[in-house]
Amino acid sequence: MTRSDDDPAGRPIVLRGGTVLTVDAARRVLTGHDVLVVDDRIAAVGVDLVVPDGAVEIDAAGGIVMPGMIDTHRHMWQTAMRGYGADWTLTQYFVWYYLESGKLFRPEDVHAGNVLGAIEAIDAGVTTTVDWSHGLQTTQHADAAVDALQSVPGRFVLAYGNIQDAPANWTGAPEFRDFVSRRIAGDDMLGFQIAFDVTGDPAFPEKPAFEVARDLGAAVTTHAGVWGATGDDGIRLMHDHGFMTPETVYVHSATLSADSYHRIAATGGSVSVSTESEQSAGQGYPPTWAIRAHGIPVSLSMDTTVWWSGDLFSAMRSTLGADRSREHMEAHAKGETVTHSSLRAEQVVEWATRGGPARWAASPTSAASRSGRRPTSCLSGTSTRP
Ligand SMILES: [Zn+2]
Repeated sequence: MTRSDDDPAGRPIVLRGGTVLTVDAARRVLTGHDVLVVDDRIAAVGVDLVVPDGAVEIDAAGGIVMPGMIDTHRHMWQTAMRGYGADWTLTQYFVWYYLESGKLFRPEDVHAGNVLGAIEAIDAGVTTTVDWSHGLQTTQHADAAVDALQSVPGRFVLAYGNIQDAPANWTGAPEFRDFVSRRIAGDDMLGFQIAFDVTGDPAFPEKPAFEVARDLGAAVTTHAGVWGATGDDGIRLMHDHGFMTPETVYVHSATLSADSYHRIAATGGSVSVSTESEQSAGQGYPPTWAIRAHGIPVSLSMDTTVWWSGDLFSAMRSTLGADRSREHMEAHAKGETVTHSSLRAEQVVEWATRGGPARWAASPTSAASRSGRRPTSCLSGTSTRP
């Protein structure tokens, strides 16, 4: 790739002659096409585009121009410990973060992890990352998290969480409401979700937290279907109480029954699949092979770089491999041979670039975010969802 000038800031950018993956509804692939970006929007896609004076020219011949990728579940505060848990199981992760060391993180530690995590995401072409931020023990931690996200170009969604306290407690605190009104207000580049898990306790202690989310118009994202932690009981409780919505994101969903998948499909929710995490940590077998059959929207995620990279190409490759492995194994158990893989590569690219909720309740007051405006970067071609 060559640039016509070293300082492209603020200037139109044209990528010349690339193979453009539009990831539109028809999944068009355009060879030898140009993509023109003006300000932060794609202005034109075509052949031999006439571009404004001063546009930065990038030779994309022989390369792929594709939408920025979306990671719907990444614990960015943990990037401060990048690679530390390479050989962990989920149990070791829980002991380290939930029981022993997670509570030692100060606001400046969360800030450091989020800055590093945000740069890592953008560097890997992930232009939208959901920061599943469950280390926010105080709103000072949350302010530090947002300060970090806003210091790096890119679109982020703060999924506010706190594993050191019950969801009903921290979502009910006045300072939490104050934080939301102070920091989450109409910024197209900063969305908002509420992040907590549902234990399956028949008393449903998470109910007040769901009510706060509904009050704020914020989506809930929840680790659901995690071996030994969350399962069908939590899904049933959410469904019985009317808290399963099209905006709800179910992370992993690797140990759920068909009944739970039916409830997710019927209420329009989506599943964030973290294949590398599920394969190595032990949440359950990566579930795309099962949830595809239920028509549930899928997005991809890296979970945490305490084990893995921040590179969604890894997620695409591992998801394709895990799905096909399972399809072969299921067939072999019946004495059959798979001659044509059900899951196609282009489907996985779609999951990585526009998968997940059809409409994000990005923030309580962000009409711009909900209107579907998308960020672009100089290497992200077409608009993406969200
Ligand atoms: Zn997670």
